[in-house]
Amino acid sequence: MPIHREAFYFGVKVSPAMRSGPKNGFEPAYLTLHRSGELAERARVADRHLENCDLCARYCRVNRKQTLAGVVCRTGELAVVNSWGPHHGEEDCLRGWRGSGTIFFSWCNLRCVFCQNWEISWKGRGEEVAATDLADFMLNLQAMGCHNINLVSPSHVVAQLLAALEIAARGGLRLPLVYNSGGYDSPEALALLDGVVDIYMPDMKYGDADLAKKYSHTPDYVRVNQAAVREMHRQVGDLQLTADNIAQRGLLVRHLVLPGGIAGTEEVVRFLAEEISRETYVNIMDQYRPSYRAGEYPELDRAITDVEYREAVNLAREYGLRRLDRRCSERWLVRWP
Ligand code: SF4
Repeated sequence: MPIHREAFYFGVKVSPAMRSGPKNGFEPAYLTLHRSGELAERARVADRHLENCDLCARYCRVNRKQTLAGVVCRTGELAVVNSWGPHHGEEDCLRGWRGSGTIFFSWCNLRCVFCQNWEISWKGRGEEVAATDLADFMLNLQAMGCHNINLVSPSHVVAQLLAALEIAARGGLRLPLVYNSGGYDSPEALALLDGVVDIYMPDMKYGDADLAKKYSHTPDYVRVNQAAVREMHRQVGDLQLTADNIAQRGLLVRHLVLPGGIAGTEEVVRFLAEEISRETYVNIMDQYRPSYRAGEYPELDRAITDVEYREAVNLAREYGLRRLDRRCSERWLVRWP
């Protein structure tokens, strides 16, 4: 299937100012590393990690340049991309009025039985692309006027995206980089991304190790995820917005509420409030629908109820998290006047 530019492009007229990125004095983190030559060096080092892969917390330790045997993410030397384009469905602070410049990577390092994008993540629908192609996508998204480059499911392609970013930076890329991951990132990968990523947007999927093992085949998800979020916050801090409410730098956490309390919302919001920052920007998401193999698990085979969502938002507020995404509040107003 050919890579397609997504249908959610709204045909915004592109001005010369939009082509060259933000004009408010903002400079993305990776440009400093690019000028010093460190970004190119990071890309070289990351490429070597592919030969004994520890680029996510699966630690497959396989040479991905030679074989896919034993590679959980099913991705070899080249990244596979499903689609790219301006996305107008992300959080307001990412989509703004010209869209978030999204690149969807195929395959995934997680194995969630309820995956909401299973055709991309489990079936790998997409095409292999070279670093030059990825860099072209980034520069085209900037030319379309997008507010950022939003890398969706990037954990298993850290080496490939660093190589592409070096080329794109040379080509004039100036947009903030959003690392939109499932939150199962290794310390080795995050060290390579230190000073590269402007906005970390990890999921926090679970608060209970047994449930993470049962539904995502990741018994250490909670430990790995909390350590990753801690490191991400150390690198970029709380989310900073422009006067126009556009995200420029910082941490934005997504938490998808699952039926029956499976997502462990209380532990997630407790961790964020008590161990990260009460200023953490959090999107508590209500869009869970049974997908992929969720039907095999009766407890997952339904949408969440209004009461379940209200309880999740209430918990976040009770623990003192103040910066909840607008949509949390709006649903609150609509459903519980
Ligand atoms: S990125 Fe993760 S899942 Fe993929 S080969 Fe490396 S360690 Fe395994």
